[in-house]
Amino acid sequence: MLLRHTIPALTACATLVLLPAAGAQAAPMDTKVTVKAAPGKKAVPFCETHKCIALTFDDGPSDNTTKLLATLKKYKAKATFFVMGSRVKKHPVLTKNIVKGGHELGNHTWSHPWLTDLTPAEIYKEINETQKLIKKTTGKTPTLFRAPGGLTDDDVNAVVAKLKLAQIPGTVATKDYVKDYRDVAFLTTAALEAAGKNAVVLMHETVKETVDSMPKVLSTLAKEGYYFVTVSKLLEGQTLVPGESYPKNETGELDDDDDFSGPAGEV
Ligand SMILES: [Zn+2]
Repeated sequence: MLLRHTIPALTACATLVLLPAAGAQAAPMDTKVTVKAAPGKKAVPFCETHKCIALTFDDGPSDNTTKLLATLKKYKAKATFFVMGSRVKKHPVLTKNIVKGGHELGNHTWSHPWLTDLTPAEIYKEINETQKLIKKTTGKTPTLFRAPGGLTDDDVNAVVAKLKLAQIPGTVATKDYVKDYRDVAFLTTAALEAAGKNAVVLMHETVKETVDSMPKVLSTLAKEGYYFVTVSKLLEGQTLVPGESYPKNETGELDDDDDFSGPAGEV
């Protein structure tokens, strides 16, 4: 029998958000009002009726986390951080601050190895030790996983399923792992071009230029009516099968030519 976990849709109330008029300056979340759903009627997941985007930041916590959290707060944006166990161990306060900011933590292994080079026991240890430390540090057990370099195989998928994690490879990337692309203006353009409704954008908080691109990216996308949500919020209402990859929707999977490789422990 397949193990399943579900990101439940809100059943008690729905959130109706009034989109700003074209060109309006106000951040969308400022105009939120809450309405009750009709009794017995299931609320519609937020992102079915709103223009959502999930920004994701890998490889932290890092020296850039505090600055990134401040920027996200300024624009009322929520994001998902795929953190490494070894860095959670080094930066427990930053890890807690991510959660305090209302963001989501996902598992990105302990030491960022290419999992396809490891034995099932080694893969299990990389992911499980990270799960345990995130739980110990924040009180929360991640439900989402992203493989370093996007590298998975049947062994990886089996371990991820056993640990009841859904895989989130991302649907688009700014490719900030390419050293030549590490320029604020370039990465700003890359993020704006990658943006789309229900996109999961893969970026790295360890890339300073990515963090420095966020004010312009967030302000521009907010004016376009985007809501910045966590991956779980984006997938709300869907039943996630552990081990499988999400989102499974019109945004599709990553392009085959997307290569997220980088040196272990880096991006
Ligand atoms: Zn990574």
